[in-house]
Amino acid sequence: MKYVSTRGEAPVLAFDDVLLAGLAEDGGLYVPESWPQFSVADLRAMVDISYAEIAYQVIRPFVGGTIADADLRGMIDETYTGFGHAAIAPLKQIGANDWLMELFQGPTLAFKDFALQLVGRMFGHVLTTRGERMTIVGATSGDTGSAAIEACRDRENIDIFILFPEGRVSPVQQRQMTTVASANVHAIAVDGTFDDCQDLVKGMFNDAQFRKTQNLSAVNSINWARVMAQIVYYVVAAVRLGAPARPVSFAVPTGNFGNVFAGWAAWKCGLPIDRLVVGTNRNDILFRFFETGEMKMAGVEPTLSPSMDIQVSSNFERLLFDMLGGDGSAVRDWIANFRISGGVSVDDSRLAAARKKFSAARLDDDGTLRVIREIYQTTGELLDPHSAIGVDAARQCRGDKAVPMISLATAHPAKFPDAVRAATDVHPELPDRMSDLFERDEVFHTLANDIGAVQDFVRRAVEKHS
Ligand SMILES: *Cc1c(COP(=O)(O)O)cnc(C)c1O
Repeated sequence: MKYVSTRGEAPVLAFDDVLLAGLAEDGGLYVPESWPQFSVADLRAMVDISYAEIAYQVIRPFVGGTIADADLRGMIDETYTGFGHAAIAPLKQIGANDWLMELFQGPTLAFKDFALQLVGRMFGHVLTTRGERMTIVGATSGDTGSAAIEACRDRENIDIFILFPEGRVSPVQQRQMTTVASANVHAIAVDGTFDDCQDLVKGMFNDAQFRKTQNLSAVNSINWARVMAQIVYYVVAAVRLGAPARPVSFAVPTGNFGNVFAGWAAWKCGLPIDRLVVGTNRNDILFRFFETGEMKMAGVEPTLSPSMDIQVSSNFERLLFDMLGGDGSAVRDWIANFRISGGVSVDDSRLAAARKKFSAARLDDDGTLRVIREIYQTTGELLDPHSAIGVDAARQCRGDKAVPMISLATAHPAKFPDAVRAATDVHPELPDRMSDLFERDEVFHTLANDIGAVQDFVRRAVEKHS
């Protein structure tokens, strides 16, 4: 199994190199050269097996032998035993043929754990095999930081530094990052905004000398391995609800397009998926794209679903590559035009082809609160604001009622208690294993919004730890 860049000018790589590289050298994203195929018999054999066993079968062809089978199996087993529910991704019925798949049973209570918990282990494993170490840096406005920290904690050959804007992340989010007592984890409160944090991270990557001596990397959402690990729960949901005999549909609260692209990938591998429904909040660039074929930039507005407050969805480039027939130079032109003009289109036939699989819907904050309230009143389930957008998109775009519709619940309601309380008057409790979050000791460092200060801190912390 080899991987090519969506922009066609980077070296073709095997899985382990794609894992460590993240972004391709030409600025593109890595995608498999061809899609492994799961036959009807393969899928039928998955009906009765565990989440981890399905994960192994789905992931193995993508890894293409670059990690020994026994090691891969071991990492997958270890990853999912750390989840808070025996089913790993439990399905709940919320309507006649409507389902909710809870993807928030991982250590940080959001779906990103499904991929990052495995990817962190894979990073550690490949680095150990090669005798290398790595410094991971990232900026977070809340959610990704804790998932990345939990994925990398206690790994000998990794130091992770997460920058967050001081006083601007929620108390739960901050504590999830700052109460991890591990020598290789460094949470940094920056005296500035989220954009300042992002600029500091970019500045570190743009400093070639620093980048090289630190062996700098990121575990951001464009990493192929994250998409790969997310394919698994689409397969699990489908075989639990009738595949391969009958198709299923999914509704996905969408930001960077990584999650729903994993659904598309599952379909490319032979999973019978009827529709993929993209849910957006008021930052609706993707909704408008699927309506009109035009991708047109607009400003980002803050909403109750902050993990979807995104202007340009980085993983969309992977779908674009497919829509443009795998032509890297066409992707390059498209992206360049978008950068220059802030708006670019695909032609009607390509849009029509994409719309055979994708639908899209959007929902504002008032609507989000209304849906949380309605679902609570009719089913007793508490939804977080992101998940509510998915559930509403499923309703707006419901096609054939005989096809099971599965909405992906991407965060635990207790991660967004204010919105949930405003909608329902119920305070969502943290799960038992986390109920002492506010009693744990916090460790973090406060630094000025100054690249020199941050780089000094990174250098010293790495020296001390290694
Ligand atoms: C990251 C995130 C999303 C968006 O997922 P993408 O893969 O970026 O589309 C949705 N909901 C929650 C809770 C998230 O953390």
